Amino acid sequence: MKRRHLLILTALLCGLGRAQTQYVVRPGDTLFSVARTAGTTVATLQALNHLAGAPLKVGQTLQLPGSAAAPVRPSAASVAGLSITVPAQLRMGDAFVVRLSGARVTEAVVQFPSEIGEDVRQPNERLAPLPVAEGAMVLGRVVLGKTTPLRYQVTVGKDTVTGEIPVSGSVAGIQKLNMPSSITKKLVDPARTAEEVQVERAYTLRTPPVWTRPFAAPLTVPPRIATVFGQSRTFSSGGPVQYHYGTDYLAPVGTPIHAINDGTVVLVGQFPVRGGLVVIDHGAGLLSMYFHQSKTLATMGQLVRRGDVIGQVGSTGVSNAPHLHLELRVRGEAVQPTEWLNRTWP
Ligand SMILES: [Zn+2]
Repeated sequence: MKRRHLLILTALLCGLGRAQTQYVVRPGDTLFSVARTAGTTVATLQALNHLAGAPLKVGQTLQLPGSAAAPVRPSAASVAGLSITVPAQLRMGDAFVVRLSGARVTEAVVQFPSEIGEDVRQPNERLAPLPVAEGAMVLGRVVLGKTTPLRYQVTVGKDTVTGEIPVSGSVAGIQKLNMPSSITKKLVDPARTAEEVQVERAYTLRTPPVWTRPFAAPLTVPPRIATVFGQSRTFSSGGPVQYHYGTDYLAPVGTPIHAINDGTVVLVGQFPVRGGLVVIDHGAGLLSMYFHQSKTLATMGQLVRRGDVIGQVGSTGVSNAPHLHLELRVRGEAVQPTEWLNRTWP
């Protein structure tokens, strides 16, 4: 007889109040450093303070989200003797971990049925949990534009448990880039088809996770973020609105770019849109991608370690100034890169 449990996990109400705190900008502060310290994101600060990319001024008062100081505790569920842990709350563009432990972990299948009907690659894929230090895990993703609750399902034999995680959105305004046609014409370059085919192929990789240490910054110079992840923007006046799928770090041409963690180089080349590109497969369906390089210094199939130099900052592809565009993809969908840095996952 089939037993079916339905768990609707509601947000922990404590810590989600609307009360805001304030911060006065001091010399040397950046949006990134303030966001890090406050436990929030650059996008959230920009939205709360109606900032449109202008540098911070010393003495300026910033509103901080009141809920940021209180970390949201994870939710737990169980099925067939298996313990499942998921975040209690998610934001648009988050990556997250479904952690599983228990004797029958190798029999478990994890799915995200709420992806059905959404504009995502391989929705509701049947995912086998991948072994990590304690138990096993599956990486989840919340695509940009999604604010409906994320639904997960774990099946062990004939038993199934389903849970729901609320998703909050971001309200940053649209950035108008007005790039010259010499750059935007690369968006319709005939060689772009081949570029997309190769990138999409990399998105289908499902290798075991190989990282064991926290993710590190891709540049050793202090981060100067030009465009945040999730920013909606147009490339030309009247052009379609597109999300920015990575984080842009300003740096001079030639600045060394470092692998953010261990992995295998699965794509290297010069492409019309992404320019000089290196893609690293870290396993668990996670890729890191480094765009616009003046020079790539990695080879296909190369095993890299965290911190290895894989290329140099440039302004190749669709780019109007030297910068590194760092993108992280979970099973092909872009997730917030800065959330990965300085943390151990899972
Ligand atoms: Zn970018």
